[in-house]
Amino acid sequence: MKELTHYINGEHVKGTSGRFADVYNPAIGEVIAQTPLASAAEMDMAVQAAAAAQPAWAAVNPQRRARVMMKMVDLLHRDMDKLAEALSQEHGKTLPDAKGDVIRGLEVVEYCIGAPQLLKGEYTDGAGPGIDMYSMKQALGVTAGVTPFNFPAMIPLWMCAPAIACGNAFILKPSERNPSVPIMLAELFEEAGLPKGIMQVVNGDKDAVDAIIEHPTIQSIGFVGSTPIAEYIYAGGCAAGKRVQAFGGAKNHAIIMPDADMDNVVNALIGAGYGAAGERCMAISVAVPVGEDTADRLIAALSPRVESLKIGPYTSGDDVDFGPVITGAAKDKINGLVESGIAQGATLAVDGRGFSLQGYEDGFFVGASLFDHVTTDMDIYKQEIFGPVLSVVRAKTYEEAIGHAMDHEYGNGTAIFTRDGDTARDFASRINVGMVGVNVPIPVPLAYHTFGGWKKSAFGDLNQHGPDAFKFYTRTKTVTSRWPKGTKEGANFSIPTM
Ligand code: NAD
Repeated sequence: MKELTHYINGEHVKGTSGRFADVYNPAIGEVIAQTPLASAAEMDMAVQAAAAAQPAWAAVNPQRRARVMMKMVDLLHRDMDKLAEALSQEHGKTLPDAKGDVIRGLEVVEYCIGAPQLLKGEYTDGAGPGIDMYSMKQALGVTAGVTPFNFPAMIPLWMCAPAIACGNAFILKPSERNPSVPIMLAELFEEAGLPKGIMQVVNGDKDAVDAIIEHPTIQSIGFVGSTPIAEYIYAGGCAAGKRVQAFGGAKNHAIIMPDADMDNVVNALIGAGYGAAGERCMAISVAVPVGEDTADRLIAALSPRVESLKIGPYTSGDDVDFGPVITGAAKDKINGLVESGIAQGATLAVDGRGFSLQGYEDGFFVGASLFDHVTTDMDIYKQEIFGPVLSVVRAKTYEEAIGHAMDHEYGNGTAIFTRDGDTARDFASRINVGMVGVNVPIPVPLAYHTFGGWKKSAFGDLNQHGPDAFKFYTRTKTVTSRWPKGTKEGANFSIPTM
């Protein structure tokens, strides 16, 4: 059995806690490796290495830090196939989708090449007599990130690239489901010129996360994962005096207006609802057609497309639309929710239950399901299913449709499909969701904008990547300097005013 390691201070370090987690190839349902689960002592080793290396890295001028990012972009392109293969093997997503995972992370590395510009401070010449005032953005020190299984390249890169570009050391605690790609990213950063100790990977579970929360040297925590854990880390990290941003789960609604181009809608929903087996925080999991006629046309057009989706292992190449889900437990949870939908009165328009693939009977494959006549009191509506299941909630009016999206506890992404500019504009303005698509089903902002949900999908003030990341990973210091000419003044006991 392959034993994976941590990556601490530029070395592959074996786990010493005696605890390990199984890493599966979800397509065959077999354990392919074991990953160590760190103790607080192992986390401390990484923190000590990070604290020792970070001051010198912060003192490297921003252009040189940017050059590491430039080189990293080249290396990610060079190793794209290798990364995608390792990612698909442990995650299950198709190879083109795995490459997309790497590319959306790489784009944030590209953005970080702009560090010299993004880290510029402000200067006021002559703020008072002989007085100049300037601000600088300084690194926090040792920072940490905790990431989910569903984007093992993209989300670690969204955190570590800006953290490092700002002059911090970064400790990644990736998902224990797929730890290989994060280690490869740390190795590539060092090949790109990063000193040892600046990018480290400590594998683990709750113990490792608690060690991050409790470690006094760690200044900030970035988290992406499910909402209960986001709330736990946000509360614990803030109570420990750290800066925290924590991104949680989602239930993304697509509103389909009667005037929408139904061919476009169906293509959009097929990709956004079932791509990556629905294991995306920006997946569309609820479609809300407005009007009975729109709903009937949607179900009629969508059902045959859902029935003909091709499900299989990533090794089948381009012939597959989506792969298995991540674990047997995830498969059971999804199947359980499908049963609950039937029991609670929804109509199963396409039944994905009982899907099995010859030769891959033990793989964690789940067939694609489509529910019609879903109501907002059902578990399949309230909960994040995180599987290949799309729920159709019929609404009589636009107001009822937007009301559903507004009332849901999650607010990550949403989309409206319409040809009417007024409706689209009204929707984008009023909806209480962080990322909005107009005829765009997965409105993940590009690297130079910021990514983040509202409501129970995000905790903290700043979004991921874009300019917010450079705010999250720095703190501002403002200097007031005075070089008085002529006679010396006496003491002044009032607050200085100009
Ligand atoms: P998860 O919450 O189970 O795990 C995320 C991370 O938290 C992992 O590193 C895991 O080891 C750690 N963790 C798990 N249990 C913990 C505990 N009790 N205490 C401390 N740490 C713990 O999430 P997941 O299953 O890996 O990922 C899927 C979830 O992530 C979905 O809810 C999805 O919507 C969400 N997600 C959100 C975004 C976003 O940007 N909002 C992006 C991707 C995924």
